Amino acid sequence: MAASPLPAPSNFIRDIIVEDLKAGKHNGRVQTRFPPEPNGHLHIGHAKAICIDFGLADEFGGHTNLRFDDTNPEKEETEYVESIKADVNWLGFQWDGLFYASDYFDQLYEWAVKLIKDGKAYVDDLTAGEIRQHRGTLTEPGKNSPYRSRAVEENLNLFERMRAGEFADGSRTLRAKIDMGSPNLNMRDPVMYRILHAEHHRTGNKWCIYPMYDFAHGQSDSIERVTHSLCTLEFQDHRPLYNWFIEQLGIFPSRQIEFDRLNLTYTLLSKRKLLQLVQEGRVNGWDDPRMPTLGGIRRRGYTPEAVRNFCGAIGVSKTNGSIELAMLEHFVREDLNKRAPRVMAVLRPLKVVINNYPENQVEEMDAVNNPEEASAGSRKVPFARALYIEQDDFREEPPKGYFRLSPGREVRLRYGYLVTCTGVVKNENGEVVEVHCTYDPATRGGNTPDGRKVKSTIHWVSAANALDAEVRIYENLFTKENPNEVEDGQDFTANLNPKSLEVISNAKVEPSLAGAAAGSRYQFERLGYFCVDPDSKPDKLIFNRTVALKDTWAKVEKKQGTKS
Ligand code: ATP
Ligand code: MG
Repeated sequence: MAASPLPAPSNFIRDIIVEDLKAGKHNGRVQTRFPPEPNGHLHIGHAKAICIDFGLADEFGGHTNLRFDDTNPEKEETEYVESIKADVNWLGFQWDGLFYASDYFDQLYEWAVKLIKDGKAYVDDLTAGEIRQHRGTLTEPGKNSPYRSRAVEENLNLFERMRAGEFADGSRTLRAKIDMGSPNLNMRDPVMYRILHAEHHRTGNKWCIYPMYDFAHGQSDSIERVTHSLCTLEFQDHRPLYNWFIEQLGIFPSRQIEFDRLNLTYTLLSKRKLLQLVQEGRVNGWDDPRMPTLGGIRRRGYTPEAVRNFCGAIGVSKTNGSIELAMLEHFVREDLNKRAPRVMAVLRPLKVVINNYPENQVEEMDAVNNPEEASAGSRKVPFARALYIEQDDFREEPPKGYFRLSPGREVRLRYGYLVTCTGVVKNENGEVVEVHCTYDPATRGGNTPDGRKVKSTIHWVSAANALDAEVRIYENLFTKENPNEVEDGQDFTANLNPKSLEVISNAKVEPSLAGAAAGSRYQFERLGYFCVDPDSKPDKLIFNRTVALKDTWAKVEKKQGTKS
């Protein structure tokens, strides 16, 4: 069951399901599966597959299994199994059946024996290298292995002994006897089983032969009576083989349908490459908020709703393309705008002293928690004589079009008062370290009883009441739209963005954030959306910037070339 249905733009997979239902196929049953290999953590590309597998089944009252495709014992670990389950749940989905390809090892072995008996599989003594040489190319047919015509009895005997552990790794394989001249290389006597004396995360040392992906996947689908087996386009050329095994074995006819893999600009979606980033210490682990893993984006503050909405909007197609990272961020902003409470935080503090404000007075100002959500209510924010504002919100010599605080200029302090800058204090380097203002007591709450206009409203925190915070600002992990585009001799790490993480250690946040729990999300007014990091402690708050608000001023300034 999904937490909420996918939006329903038409897509070709949905069309196929609708047709099948109309034709009464499978008695109107829709069964899908999500089949991750537990060799790494899930990323946003998997989220797309999950939303399709679970979302479509759900739409038609069907069921979805979570199946771990665990046929590579050397790369797979229980740790990944647990993380994948947690990630699927986090996205808002609950599987019906929980299975492992390894549940079917006995059945697969029996089916292999059946194919040998039917003369459709043989034990080959060629090495992996020799098999490759015999395979031919896209333009040349392959050559039959000299072992291809072994008698059924000999094949049965050798296969049994492969299983019994008599032979060394890689010394023999079981191959399907199909067609070495097929234009589809996958049909040129594909390997079904390999010898591998390796401990499996679930079956331990029971097996020393393991089925290949192609001899496990379709049959697993079939055992689970999967009606629509949805996968990415790289498996298209495997479909004839998927069907061949099902036909030869006469088992439930699952149908494989391929869709486009998600590619995102400035992002890599490959478990292998993400693993490299972790192992080389380029990021701080799998859940580094710069990682496109579900653990990473969760820590960053992305919501499952935003990810599902994004996946619904990108839909599916039959050709691979690339989606703008900005589109994903758009959905994150859109969702957080609805739900994130607003607070005031100052990332780069500049002290402001209001000369005519009573020395020891503190007023509790009313602040709206979320203008998008009336039920979110309001809170009190302390206002006092000494405040912090953003350094960016003051210019001693304002450029054209700059309307924030500057000498002689009046601005509104949000939920506070209107203040006018009367002077500055500079350090020995001539830098402004303190700004002096006067306030108009008649403008409490930011109102102007005489109707006078101020062009700018800025945020602030009371210096004496503010809490110290560390804020981690993230930028794209890669500098290139396609991080795989590199010069000769380089790898994708050459495109890592050296400025992808900036740590601001002396930010100031309003006191209502005291004790904010890890994972809580906020909008820091005028700055963006932020999420409390799990490293956060009551005496040292740590926030991750999830995504910035659109900063219109930065754009104007850049255009004008006035930014120093
Ligand atoms: P990776 O290359 O990152 O290791 P994978 O395809 O090997 O990915 P699996 O665990 O085998 O990962 O994938 C489980 C399911 O998720 C498959 O059906 C696969 O097609 C799908 N999937 C993986 N990556 C993407 C992606 N970028 N976009 C859409 N679906 C994906
Ligand atoms: Mg894979």
